[in-house]
Amino acid sequence: MKSLQDSVGNLKGVGKKRVADLATLGIDTIEDLLTYYPSRYNDLRPADLTTAKDKQKITLHGRVVSEPLLTHFGYRRSRLSFRLQVDQEVVMVTFFNQPYLVKQLQLDSQVTVLGKWDARRRQVTANRLTTAALEASNDFGAVYPVNKHVKQGMLRSLIRQAYEEYQNVIPTLLPQTLRQRYRLLDRRQMLAGMHFPKDAGQAQTARRTAAYEEFFLFQLRLQAIRQAQRQEDGLRILYHNDEVKEFIRGIGFELTNAQKRVVNEICADLRRPYQMNRLLQGDVGSGKTIVAAIAIYATITAGYQAALMAPTEILAAQHAEKLAKVFENTPVHIGLLTGSLTAKQHAQLRDAIKRGDVNLIIGTHALIQEDVEYANLGLAITDEQHRFGVNQRQQLREKGDHPDVLAMTATPIPRTLAITAYGEMDVSVIDELPAGRKPIKTKWFKVDKQNEALHFLREQLAAGAQAYVVSPLIEESEALDVQNATDLYEQLAKYFGGDYQVGLLHGRMSGDEKDQVMREFQEKKLQVLVSTTVIEVGVDNPNATVMIIYNADRFGLAQLHQLRGRVGRGDRQSYCLLLADPKTDEGKARMQTMVETNDGFKVAEKDLELRGSGDVLGNKQSGLPDFKVGDPVGDIKMLQIARNDAEQLLKTPHWDDVDDNQPLVLYLKRHQLETHFD
Ligand code: ADP
Ligand code: MG
Repeated sequence: MKSLQDSVGNLKGVGKKRVADLATLGIDTIEDLLTYYPSRYNDLRPADLTTAKDKQKITLHGRVVSEPLLTHFGYRRSRLSFRLQVDQEVVMVTFFNQPYLVKQLQLDSQVTVLGKWDARRRQVTANRLTTAALEASNDFGAVYPVNKHVKQGMLRSLIRQAYEEYQNVIPTLLPQTLRQRYRLLDRRQMLAGMHFPKDAGQAQTARRTAAYEEFFLFQLRLQAIRQAQRQEDGLRILYHNDEVKEFIRGIGFELTNAQKRVVNEICADLRRPYQMNRLLQGDVGSGKTIVAAIAIYATITAGYQAALMAPTEILAAQHAEKLAKVFENTPVHIGLLTGSLTAKQHAQLRDAIKRGDVNLIIGTHALIQEDVEYANLGLAITDEQHRFGVNQRQQLREKGDHPDVLAMTATPIPRTLAITAYGEMDVSVIDELPAGRKPIKTKWFKVDKQNEALHFLREQLAAGAQAYVVSPLIEESEALDVQNATDLYEQLAKYFGGDYQVGLLHGRMSGDEKDQVMREFQEKKLQVLVSTTVIEVGVDNPNATVMIIYNADRFGLAQLHQLRGRVGRGDRQSYCLLLADPKTDEGKARMQTMVETNDGFKVAEKDLELRGSGDVLGNKQSGLPDFKVGDPVGDIKMLQIARNDAEQLLKTPHWDDVDDNQPLVLYLKRHQLETHFD
């Protein structure tokens, strides 16, 4: 009985040597071979010029009817042009910077060129030339990623052979309901479409099925494993529904639908007897803090303590201040544990925490690094999750009796990447801003237009606005950063000559000094706050509506977006002005992205595109799987859908008894075992 698990050695012409060669591509079984997908297709069918569209990539086959003309210009640059007769029409073909091709071109010879069609000028900017007429076949040719052991042609014919011999034993893995819902192909059709499509449309349809299948199977494995690992060793935080509802009613504004959804997800986790491990993602200003407050309230009224960790003291202090208002007249008693406490205050607070008199503990990671003992910690929250390392996350989870853990982040990791990069966590997303927010207007000024930016700032200040001015960032030198901020501060103080008050904030100031400046800014005693990136996270002053970022090209997109998030927090129109002369295309693209979009997830996707996903996630250790077809960035929606579908399926009782699903059950068994072994 043939099976897709058979070794590729079963194919004709595949002996020991070939088996080893194929293994270098990760191909051991027939299934591996059949799911070794093309990286692209070379449409070698000659184009019909009467219907070809402008900018379309086309293949043309014809006769060279003019003497090729080669011109050199500049350093190593050249242009090679000739006329090509294609059917009844003569078109101009141009190659740039491939002077050596001239040797392959003779008047009257037949050639095939691939390139981009300019429909208006009737010409092709070509990048590939072949004189072998053979290549212009009727194939929509699959092109596979290969290496020196395995050649394109061999791989193609082996895949063809495997398909012919095994097509009758290709089980369809996707449940029928899902295939019907999304109009997906069965697996046999999908494989045929991936490897031997007749046209782009067929390849595309097959790709859609293949990507979904891949995402779905991945999510199914991940969740099956996680389900198996969920032991009943967490706390059951039994809050009272009515009490929490009452609290929510008292907040003073209506939660957005997205906030309601994530509150439900989090609260459901609190009640469950296993440890919550959830990532809460939401763009800056989406209102994560109030969501955290609701979870804290539920936890504390159920008789447990909660801890909230922020990456900086400023932010911790600010949270404490804001939450003190939110929790006025409630059983929540806040303790702010930071490095600026005296030894005595510190000891007293720690005692109160140990006794349980203080039930909401706010601080920096001193909360886990130092030996803080809790009476009964039920919920630990980290704000701006990306600032905390994996180890710190783990330390937190191991505090006390395995508290529920909620990690909040505004780092725009596209949500699907979060699903994979934080594979161990559940993910909640707030994908909606509170109503009435005006999108921030972002403008990019060249440095020599600095005066225009400052002029604009002056106008805004005159209208009652406040502003942040972020000074240039010099990597790896805090001293220089401070110097820069100080210089800029002096420059601006002089510029405004007493019309407006300018303040300075940087990382070398003491906690008290920082607090002092922040307070003056909040109280509008200062109109302009010059700062290093210490204001990057969390700082909240709704009256600050202008942000100017000097040398903006020194910052990455994620950081620029974070910085920009400090404005746009009130009802008034906010502005972000970028001052930069980026030297690279990538730098220009970053500025352009900021100007074009306010959506953190879009910014993140662009960031990913500009940097390549490898960079963003650091390294392969992040456990990000390599998808063969699916693109976790471009196919975000599909990955999310697949995740939900996998979750639903696992929740459905007896789904694994359905005959149709047996291939899926076998697949899961096979792969779950593998995962346990590695
Ligand atoms: P984040 O931490 O996600 O950046 P915050 O929690 O600081 O955002 O919220 C930003 C501002 O929006 C705060 O002033 C908060 O009170 C306010 N806010 C939050 N949710 C809502 C809502 N549903 N409607 C109106 N305002 C809200
Ligand atoms: Mg926040």
